[in-house]
Amino acid sequence: MSRPFNFAPGPATLPQEVLEQAAAEMLDWRGTGMSVMEMSHRGAAFTEIAETALRDLRELLQVPAHMRVLLMQGGAIAENAIVPLNLSRGTVADYVVTGAWSKKSHAEARKYCEARLAASTEDSGFTTLPVADQWRLSHQASYVHLCSNETVHGVQWPALPDVRALGGAAPLAVDCSSDIGSRAIDWSQVGVAYAGAQKNLGPSGVTVVIVREDLLGHALPSCPSAFDYKIVADNDSMYNTPPTYAIYIMGLVLQWMKRQSYKGLHGLAAIEQRNQDKAHLLYEVIDASDLYINRVQAHCRSLMNVPFFLSRDELNPVFLAEAQARDLLQLKGHKSVGGMRASLYNAMPLEGVQSLVSFMKDFATRHG
Ligand code: PMP
Repeated sequence: MSRPFNFAPGPATLPQEVLEQAAAEMLDWRGTGMSVMEMSHRGAAFTEIAETALRDLRELLQVPAHMRVLLMQGGAIAENAIVPLNLSRGTVADYVVTGAWSKKSHAEARKYCEARLAASTEDSGFTTLPVADQWRLSHQASYVHLCSNETVHGVQWPALPDVRALGGAAPLAVDCSSDIGSRAIDWSQVGVAYAGAQKNLGPSGVTVVIVREDLLGHALPSCPSAFDYKIVADNDSMYNTPPTYAIYIMGLVLQWMKRQSYKGLHGLAAIEQRNQDKAHLLYEVIDASDLYINRVQAHCRSLMNVPFFLSRDELNPVFLAEAQARDLLQLKGHKSVGGMRASLYNAMPLEGVQSLVSFMKDFATRHG
């Protein structure tokens, strides 16, 4: 069965192999007589599913031994509160604002601590990253928060910034919702990284939190128990009933990731290279045509979410309708910025991007 290409920003396209396997296992998971949805989260079968998923995640992302991987609920938006509740000790935290999502994180944190603005690129219309002399890091900061990939504005840190070199001493708190699993992560400065699963890792409902062990145990007294990292860690993410089916699908996605190969590379390295090639194809077409516009500076253009505008606004509905007719779905931009956005997560095949750029070239010839 050939499916349309789905460029949604999340919930997003999943590997077809994963959906097929889930369908095949729906009624009876490996002879248990039950669907994964119907199992006890404490039984042997689900324990195996969850432990395998965690092992695969650690292996793929090379998570160091001194970090715990927690499976939580509430998504990245809940983490905007959960991070300061756990790490700020009610004191100071620094926030770097590079787009809609980190701006939201900063606003939420102010309820729980003195959340300072360490740098912002809002004046640029969120088209760049702060340069060294724009940073104002606080000596007392408990952490420095940033968003590694801004899903709405299409701005991505090519690598996590070296806060020590910028005069900071606090660990990073990273919202990596829209690029987790798309490339290797340098953990050396990370205190906590969190992500909703619904872009690269699986369906919505499970939030992955990777946190340094020594940062556990300092939650504010008002922190709900279900959101206290130490309580969640001490209970192996089973303090409350976890989102079992979402964890199962994430496990299948992680196994799919491990099976990937591309240009002689395997696993995450293959995925990373393919993601670079996919994004390059699309930016090349955008830059080659006067009809398409992306204003993000080249060094920080997102490999995951590519927003673009048509120079003639009246063509927006025509573009979307023609794309849909060619089985290229969910290309409409975020309502706050308009235009188009193509999300190119891991599960978007190279052929999907080739099909999109071929349509875009043809559209530009006819309407440009
Ligand atoms: N941060 C980023 C970077 C996101 O892309 C999103 C979702 N698009 C969120 C936070 C919010 O995630 P959730 O709705 O899962 O809480």
